[in-house]
Amino acid sequence: MAIEVHQFPCLSDNYCWLVRDEAADVTAVVDTPEVEPINRALEEKGWRLTHILNTHHHFDHAGGNEALKERWGCTIVGADMDAARIPGIDVRVKEGEVYKFGKSNARVFEVPGHTSGHIAYHFEDDGIAFVGDTIFALGCGRLFEGTAEQMWDSLEKLMGMPDDTTIYCAHEYTQANAAFALSVEPGNPELVERCAEIDRLRADGVPTVPTTLAREKATNPFLRPSSANLQETVGLVGAPLVEVFAETRRRKDNF
Ligand code: ZN
Ligand code: FE
Repeated sequence: MAIEVHQFPCLSDNYCWLVRDEAADVTAVVDTPEVEPINRALEEKGWRLTHILNTHHHFDHAGGNEALKERWGCTIVGADMDAARIPGIDVRVKEGEVYKFGKSNARVFEVPGHTSGHIAYHFEDDGIAFVGDTIFALGCGRLFEGTAEQMWDSLEKLMGMPDDTTIYCAHEYTQANAAFALSVEPGNPELVERCAEIDRLRADGVPTVPTTLAREKATNPFLRPSSANLQETVGLVGAPLVEVFAETRRRKDNF
C-alpha cells in the first residue's frame, strides 16, 4: 500500500479525499467541492497540495480548482475530452492511460453518463478507485449529459475492476439510495441486511463511504440488471440488461 487516503466531508453531502504518497512526497485532492475544508485538512496533516485530480466539471467537484491552484501552485489533472470545462487544467488524461502520481499508478477510465466528460481514477496497486458521481453506495449518478446506454457501458467498465476494490464515491446519498434499492429488489437478503446496517451507521453519523465493488455488485440495483427479482419489479423479465438498467434509473428519478 503506497498511498494513504484521508476522507473528510464538504458542502452538505460531498466527500473529499487527500491522497498522499509519502515516499514521493506528493499529495493530491480528489475534486475540489469547497476550498476551506481542503486547506484545513492539509494544514491538519501538515501536507502540501501538489495535485488536483478532477473527476468531472460540476461545481461541487471543480469549484475550488482555481483558488487552490493559486494558493498551492498544484498541478490539475482532468479529462482530455472535457478540458474546456475543467478550470485550470494542466494535464489532460484519456481512457486507458496511466497517470503517474508519485510512485503510484492511476489508471484512467472514461465513464460518461452523469456528465459527458466524467472520468474515474483506479489506483491499481492499492486496490482503490475514485469514481466521482458514477457509482454511489447503492446508487449511480443521474444522467445529466449522457444516455442510459453510455452510463451502463461506464458501469460495466468499472465492474471490470477487481471485486475487492475500495470504491470512493463522492456523496453521502446512501440512506436515500437504500430506500429505493429495497423498493426494486426487496427479495435480496444481502440488501435487506445492508440497509439495516446503513440505518445504524447513519444514526451514529458514521460515513457509509467508502464501499467495495463486491458489496455494490451484491446489493446495488444499478449494477444488478441481471437480478430476476429486479427484472420482475420493473416489469422487464428477460430484457437486455441495458434496458433494465435504463428503467431502473428512470424509476429512481421519480422515486
Ligand atoms: Zn456531479
Ligand atoms: Fe457531485
